[in-house]
Amino acid sequence: MTYQDPLERVVKEVVLPAAESVDRSATFPREAVNALAGAGLLALTVPSGYGGGGAGLPAATDVVQQLSTACGSTAMVVMMHYSAVAALVAADREDVLREIATGRHLSTLAFSETGSRSHFWAPLGTATGDGTEIRLNSRKSWVTSASHADSYIWSSRPLAAPGPMTLWLVRTGTPGLSIGPEFDGLGLRGNDSRPVTGTDVEVPRTALLGVDGAGLDLALSAVLPWFLLLNAAASIGLMRAVTGETAEHLTRTRLRHLDRSLAQLPDSRAQLARMRIETDRTAALLDRTLAALQKGHDDAQLLVLEVKAAADGSAAEVADLAMTACGGAAFRRELGIERRFRDSRAARVMAPTTPALLDFVGRALCGLPLLDGADG
Ligand SMILES: Cc1cc2nc3c(=O)[nH]c(=O)nc-3n(C[C@H](O)[C@H](O)[C@H](O)COP(=O)(O)OP(=O)(O)OC[C@H]3O[C@@H](n4cnc5c(N)ncnc54)[C@H](O)[C@@H]3O)c2cc1C
Repeated sequence: MTYQDPLERVVKEVVLPAAESVDRSATFPREAVNALAGAGLLALTVPSGYGGGGAGLPAATDVVQQLSTACGSTAMVVMMHYSAVAALVAADREDVLREIATGRHLSTLAFSETGSRSHFWAPLGTATGDGTEIRLNSRKSWVTSASHADSYIWSSRPLAAPGPMTLWLVRTGTPGLSIGPEFDGLGLRGNDSRPVTGTDVEVPRTALLGVDGAGLDLALSAVLPWFLLLNAAASIGLMRAVTGETAEHLTRTRLRHLDRSLAQLPDSRAQLARMRIETDRTAALLDRTLAALQKGHDDAQLLVLEVKAAADGSAAEVADLAMTACGGAAFRRELGIERRFRDSRAARVMAPTTPALLDFVGRALCGLPLLDGADG
């Protein structure tokens, strides 16, 4: 499947024109998601044997990066969907994957909880029952696409087995699910990330993804690489966009009394250069990580942990430089740069947060396990 042409068309005709109003009104980008579904892009990473595009991380990171150049909220929705698909592929859920392949199913991750907060590896929500019906009780603190998704990849403590976590497929609309108030965040304002509470949510035992008690292994081995690389790709898309927008503003804006453009100020050019260097540096790290994963290099897992932490910091720095280079003009909405600035703040607080990833990288370098008993 070639995804580039349909992607370019949807970005140009639907995602980009809606981006400003999605942000301003904090509205879920429904039209964009429908257009992406219609173009086969929600099915891109579903195995071809199940009717999907059969694409892997290189194509998915490219899609998220391009969406992010236009609209951070849309990129975020697709990023969480692809991460959820990775869990379904690892658990070989042909039934749902075939639905996703038709483009009629949007999924997302429901990991973070009000109790263990960003420590998604330690859910406090429970799964109980000993027959065919299981009851889930949890207070999820943030679920992207909460009121628009068709399913959640839902974490809980194990049903009966030892271990920190079990994963479930929970269909939205299941009685007992209650979706919290509309998202009113600093950035990514259209991503519909709301709390979701599950009270005695009855799911069949077949909702179990993988093996009871082995949900953390599934999350770390199958979902985390997708989430981290896609997150980095979203940051790179944001950096590319804001660097281009800054160059445009500097070039066309004039200091009339001096008969010069802002681009003729050496400090402004240096800020722009730093933005571009930071963007290219992060993109090179993402490319290196993708290549290491593909070739099975020894440092692949370490790079996977590094890349989101690197991209989070770079995106915040680049957006900050854009605000400085463009001055008061960037402080107003019409340039779109303050939207990039606000959006750039999200990646650092998305779990694993930047401090958690720095700890993971340090642990890996010291030969320590990523998590120890105290963390769980
Ligand atoms: C736009 C957006 C969309 C999201 N979508 C989803 C989603 O779809 N699904 C989902 O499951 N979650 C989602 N989240 C939640 C996200 O993954 C985090 O769980 C959440 O942002 C954590 O916020 P908190 O206030 O609970 O952080 P806290 O856990 O309270 O952390 C507060 C601060 O303490 C730091 N900290 C915490 N523990 C440590 C430690 N051990 N060492 C050092 N520093 C530490 C953190 O890095 C952070 O800076 C989303 C978040 C955002 C912003």
